[in-house]
Amino acid sequence: MPVTLPFDNSYARLPDRFYARVAPTPVRAPKLVKLNRALARKLNLDPDWLESPEGLEMLAGNRIPDGSEPIAMAYAGHQFGQFVPQLGDGRAILLGEVIGRDGVRRDIQLKGSGPTPFSRQGDGRAAIGPVLREYLVSEAMAALGVPTTRSLAAVLTGEVVIRDRFLPGAVLTRVARSHIRIGTFQYFAVRGDFEALQQLADYAIARHYPEVAEADHPYRAFLDAVVKAQAELVPKWLLIGFIHGVLNTDNTSIAGETIDYGPCAFMDTYSPTTVFSSIDYHGRYAYGNQPQIVHWNLVRFAETLLPLLSDDQDKAVAMAQEAIDTYPKLFEAAYHAGLRRKLGLETARDHDLDLIHDLLKAMAENGADFTLTFRNLSEAVADPAADEQVRSLFTDPAAYDAWAPRWRQRLADEPGDPAARRQAMRAANPMFIPRNHRIEAVINAAVDDKDYAPFEELLAVLSRPYENQPAFALYAQPPEPHERVLKTFCGT
Ligand code: AMP
Ligand code: MG
Repeated sequence: MPVTLPFDNSYARLPDRFYARVAPTPVRAPKLVKLNRALARKLNLDPDWLESPEGLEMLAGNRIPDGSEPIAMAYAGHQFGQFVPQLGDGRAILLGEVIGRDGVRRDIQLKGSGPTPFSRQGDGRAAIGPVLREYLVSEAMAALGVPTTRSLAAVLTGEVVIRDRFLPGAVLTRVARSHIRIGTFQYFAVRGDFEALQQLADYAIARHYPEVAEADHPYRAFLDAVVKAQAELVPKWLLIGFIHGVLNTDNTSIAGETIDYGPCAFMDTYSPTTVFSSIDYHGRYAYGNQPQIVHWNLVRFAETLLPLLSDDQDKAVAMAQEAIDTYPKLFEAAYHAGLRRKLGLETARDHDLDLIHDLLKAMAENGADFTLTFRNLSEAVADPAADEQVRSLFTDPAAYDAWAPRWRQRLADEPGDPAARRQAMRAANPMFIPRNHRIEAVINAAVDDKDYAPFEELLAVLSRPYENQPAFALYAQPPEPHERVLKTFCGT
């Protein structure tokens, strides 16, 4: 029986040079690891069908459903600051787009689905480890309230992939508002293909920022909108301790979603210089560098739009500069508002930032756990007896003792009662983040013992990050020294 999914493939209707038409390469013995049933329903897809043998064939890339027009998208990008004029989907294939129950159009993409014309030396495949990491972290990010691509399914291929050792192969089904990146614009800009550039801009406007089409200068308004989306995304990362790990321009989404979970990780002890990625030798993409890096990426984006901004080069540059210059203020406004919320401050006062920075400084100097410090402050705000749970996170608890009275004095100026403040703080300060040692343990259980129970349990805990979940209190704990995982790998 032919299978028809409600695909409507707008990107595949763009000109041929935007992509390569290529089908996934079938795999030997597909096995479903996980289906995200709630997400399937949100997408208007039938979870029971997706779990059926036919659905599994699609999720593994063994069967192309009617209505799908598989393509690998072309893009370029700056990788660690070096421009690469052609990257493209080397191990991912877009099956098509669906319109969800919320009316939003989303891409359904298989990642790890075999070689494409953009694979270069790569095998086009993915190992189970990175697939589980992406599944866990992207779903955790969604539950934490961060714009992100989602994970619809993970399947084992029944084949091995060769990395530093033999590993089980897997395919992730990734869902995104689109897979258009800054690097997609760079791909056409570097080729001097202004016709394609304009088509891409018009497409991205219609799909992601339809309101800017009405502006006096739609392309300038488009640039403003992308700058704003990124300036609001990065603070959300910082406020929960997320480190993307590979913030190349090809991993920066035009729709403003977090995309490409490679060597990403969450920080345990607070330190702005924290780096996990095994390939980030110079700390370019360290936790605290992310705001400047995304600013730099946006400059690269603005450069691609110059020919669309004005025929007059000087005027185009001035317009681009104006748009780029809005970033620091937008970023700071969102970041500072978020930091205030983390400390239970609804109103803004002159010296709030000193108060916040002094806490962060004390945390850095005393190896305090980022997530637990703020979560425990959410209890201390209503009950000074809970101070002990905060101060014990500092190597020298006196550092907290010196700071806490200033915080309490400031809180005295706030409206509302302590119980309401605690509720507001709990909603801004997660109890559960995907800690790196937990992800590692999940991956080891899957690879070494074919045991996916730890994956299921961690995933369930992370789906309610702001709730206490006393039965899972251990998942809130930072790693013991011997459990620490300091390096993460792209695993490509
Ligand atoms: P990433 O580091 O995941 O952003 O990928 C950077 C580029 O390398 C993209 O063009 C990917 O498609 C490509 N790539 C990564 N891993 C593989 C692989 N196993 N096979 C083919 N291409 C890959
Ligand atoms: Mg990428």
